[in-house]
This record gives sequence, structure tokens and C-alpha cells, in this order.
Amino acid sequence: MTATAPREELWSRCAGCASLLYRKRLRRNLDVCPECGEHARLGAPERLRQLVDPGSLHLLPDRLPEADPLDFVDVLPYPHRLTGARASTGLAEGVLCATATIGGHPLVLAVMDFRFLGGSLGCAVGELITRAAERALDDRTPLVLITASGGARMQEGALSLMQMATVSQAIAALREAGLLTVSVLTDPTYGGVAASFATNTDLVLAESGARMGFAGPRVIRQITGRALPEGFQTADFLLRHGQVDMVVQRRSLRGRLMALLAATRAGRSARPSVPRQEPAPRRERLADDRATLAGPVVAAAAGDTPAVRDAWDTVRMARHPGRPTALDYLDSVFDGFVELHGDRLGADCPAIVGGVARLAGRHVMVIGHQKGHTTAELVARNFGMASPAGHRKALRLMRLAARLGLPVVTLVDTPGADPGVSAEEHGQAAAIAENILALTVLPTPVLAVITGEGGSGGALALAVADRVLMLENAVYSVISPEGCAAILWPDRSAAPQAARALRLTAPDLCRLGVVDEVVSEPSNAAHDDPAETAHRLRAALLANLVPLLDVPPAMLVRLRRQRFRRFGANRADARVGRR
Ligand SMILES: [Zn+2]
Repeated sequence: MTATAPREELWSRCAGCASLLYRKRLRRNLDVCPECGEHARLGAPERLRQLVDPGSLHLLPDRLPEADPLDFVDVLPYPHRLTGARASTGLAEGVLCATATIGGHPLVLAVMDFRFLGGSLGCAVGELITRAAERALDDRTPLVLITASGGARMQEGALSLMQMATVSQAIAALREAGLLTVSVLTDPTYGGVAASFATNTDLVLAESGARMGFAGPRVIRQITGRALPEGFQTADFLLRHGQVDMVVQRRSLRGRLMALLAATRAGRSARPSVPRQEPAPRRERLADDRATLAGPVVAAAAGDTPAVRDAWDTVRMARHPGRPTALDYLDSVFDGFVELHGDRLGADCPAIVGGVARLAGRHVMVIGHQKGHTTAELVARNFGMASPAGHRKALRLMRLAARLGLPVVTLVDTPGADPGVSAEEHGQAAAIAENILALTVLPTPVLAVITGEGGSGGALALAVADRVLMLENAVYSVISPEGCAAILWPDRSAAPQAARALRLTAPDLCRLGVVDEVVSEPSNAAHDDPAETAHRLRAALLANLVPLLDVPPAMLVRLRRQRFRRFGANRADARVGRR
């Protein structure tokens, strides 16, 4: 059904639109149909050629002792099928492994080839991918897997099933070593491959047009007797259901991999526990950053905020629809944001955005609540109220950051966690609880900024941090003033009084020690001058993050726990906050 053939022919017919295409033209277009955008299947050699830097490719050995462990015979003996596959593809097995560089970043690749017995996972394929992973571990480089497979190789019985565990174990070793693993799903990826190394990597990218699933559509239809939803198991379906980080067009794949490899390599070298090779230049650069960016714009410490605004006015400022959102800050404060999607369990919550980005040249993981400026945006983002899937996406990204040695920056702006029925059914309480727990032990610097509304547990799920900053007109509270008024006052109209009583403003919280630093806003408020707000936030982030980079992870965790131990009854100066 696709345009691949053992020998180059002059013309091929597109599987998508049936156009007759000149073969050379199609190849120049990376085997993507110029008429309809259909991504034709690629053989492993061509895939490698498209992805890696010219001259950097070194194929790893692909010959293994011949194995037919079951003496398997269907209409043909298994060895005959192997011989046929070798003759038609020119490959020794269904995977091609290599070391190479992409954009100068060294890595190990394992590329499956669907032409070889349907890309099936047999003992040899499992062994070759495992060796590739071990090579990545030895070289301390990332591993990128390009999958294309119908699943396990039946002709090798349960031994092929075992390969799912063998390769997964090799991936686990890379995780433990803090080395990035990426799988790129190409069409089709099914069965045992889908249920192991295609999806248990740190990042999962889906090539446009790829389909991935455990059971194939035909089997599901047979078993359920039902029609399948439109686009079932396609890349876009997978993205919507939280299964993949992103869908990538073939022409963008190399660039995307380059950006991800760059982010994680930088993260590893900046890892505080690893001795750095050139500490001096880095320190100078950081000092420069602080000198140029800090100075008078970094905010006001507790108590010296110039204009004292009524708490209720501050609440209204914090909720102003013009106030910059997380995505606005990702654009203005950070560079090179690559968004990562999905909780891997079934959903991608639009109220939480996250991914890798650079802050003044340093790679960080940024996770934030996303609201919006218009009603349509707010509705699409559920008003910044995260579902359990949102909290689980955040958790996945925090843990990934820790593994790769990237500091975490969170941008908190939520009225609270999603209070709906579905959220309860999917374990909202436990999802928040798990994030709070995970943050208390996360072995990487965590910097939280309350940028707008810090609404109760939903906010804290992103705000257990080494340093907690707060924009001048943000609020942070255990309950909304309206909610508090409805419970403790005769009615909700007492919200302004409740706002004052709750001590939810930045200066108040600074005095209480809940917040470490107030980031002042320009003239009236953040939405009047978003560019200046971004400038100040960037300076404050750098000033607070840089010292944390030099603290060993174990000490970071200890200090973070102490920070959250000192509140309430354990607090020596518990009288603060009175005026
Ligand atoms: Zn076409």
C-alpha cells in the first residue's frame, strides 16, 4: 500500500491520493506526497539518511547467530522467510542500529524497518536494540528509537515476547543514568513494540500519519463488533488522548530531535551533582546575567512595596483577563519552548502547559497553568483549572526534568483544581497529593512563581519549591474570597472583607514566609506593560535560580523540606502578619 519497493522505480502511486508521482521528486520531498501530504513508509537506511548529519553515521554490527528456536513452520519454514526478507531488503534483520550526530549532538539510533517481516520483534531485533541501548549507556548519549512494527514475531513464540522485557530493562538503565530516551512512532507501530519500548521512553513523538496501538483496528472491530471512532489510533488521536508528546511532520523531525537533544544535553552538563569541566566561564556568564538583569528591576523584598492596594482590588487585578498567561511568559521570558503533551494515561489537559525552554541560555523545564485572554480561550483552557490528567502531565514532566538534570520553573495561575464530576472520578485528590509529595523529594532545583491566582491545592500542586516568588498583584490563598465569604459570612457579598482577612496578597505572604520574594509590577499592573513585567520576571527568575544550580540535589531536597517544615505551629515567630 505504500511507495516503497526493493528497486528504485521511476514512478510510484501515492497511497493517500493515488497520484502518480515521479520517484525522484517524491524522494526529494522525503517520501511525503507533494499532492496530499501522505507520509509513505521509509526503509531504515533512508530514514537514517534523512535524520543524521552527513558523514556522522556509523552502523553498529547487525549480524547475529542464526536462530530458529522453535523450528517453526507455517506454509513456509521460518528460515525461508528470513532469507526472503534479507534478499528483498538488503538488511540482516528488521532493525538498523547506528551511532551518529544530529545537529552535532551525538546519539545512538535504532531504526526498525517494516519491510522486514512486518518489523516484527524477534530475538535478534530485541538483542540488537538492547545492544544499541547499552552502547548509548557506555557512550553516555541519548537513545532514539524509530519504531515500525506489527508486534512480536510469532515464529519465535514466547521468546519474542521476552524481548519486550529485555529492551525495557535496557531503557530502564538509561533512565537511571539520566540519559534521554526518545521513541518516534512511525506507521504502523502495534502490539508488543507499542506496549514496550515504543512508549516507555522519556519522550514519545509520533510522525504525522502514524498509527499506534496495542491491538490493531481489525481485531478490535472483530471483538467488540462496533465501528471505531474517526481517526482511531492515528497520531492526532494519540495526542488528544495524552499518549504522545507531539505530532511531527517528517520535514520537521530532524529539527525537533535536534532541539530536544540540545535541551537535555545542556541539562545534564548543568546538573549540580556532576563536576563541571569549565566552571569559571559559566560563573562569569551567570554573574553577567545577574549584573545586567538584576539591579533595580528585581523586586521589592517584603514590606517595601510602594503602593498599598486593597486586597480585594488585588484579587481583581490577579484575575484581569489582560494579565499575561503562562504561554505569554513562555514567549517573552523564555526562548525556544518545545511543548510536551499528555499524561500517557488517556488525556492531555489544556489547563496545564509544559515543556523544555531556555532561560538566558540555560535549559529548564517550565510547567504552568494556562488561562487565556478571551472567553473562547478561557473555555478551551478550562479557566486554568487542571484536571487529574493535567496534574499527571505536570508530574511526568517534573520527573523527567529531575532525571535529565533540568531545573523546574513553575508558573502558577489557577482559580483552583478542576472541581468537576469527571475530575473526581479520575482521582483529583490523589493526583494533587502525588504532585505535592513528588515535589518534596524532586532532586533538581524547583522555582515557583505565583503569576496570577494561586488557588488552593491546585496551586500548591505546582508550588512546593525551593524558592517561591510572587508577582506584586498576584494572590495566593487556601480558598477564594467568595468561597470563604459564603461559608464564614452571611453571603458572598462579603468577599472583599474575606479577601482582606485571608491575607492573600504578595506582601502579606512574604511576611508570613510563604513567599520568598515579591516581583514588582510596572506602573499600574502587569497587563499595562507586559514587556516590562516579563523583563522583571526574567531578572527575578535568574537571580533566584542561579544560586540553586550550585546546590547538590540531596541538600536541595533537605532545604526544601525544612522550608515547608517551618510553617504554623513549628514556626518560631508565629505572630507575623498582624498589623
Ligand atoms: Zn498523495
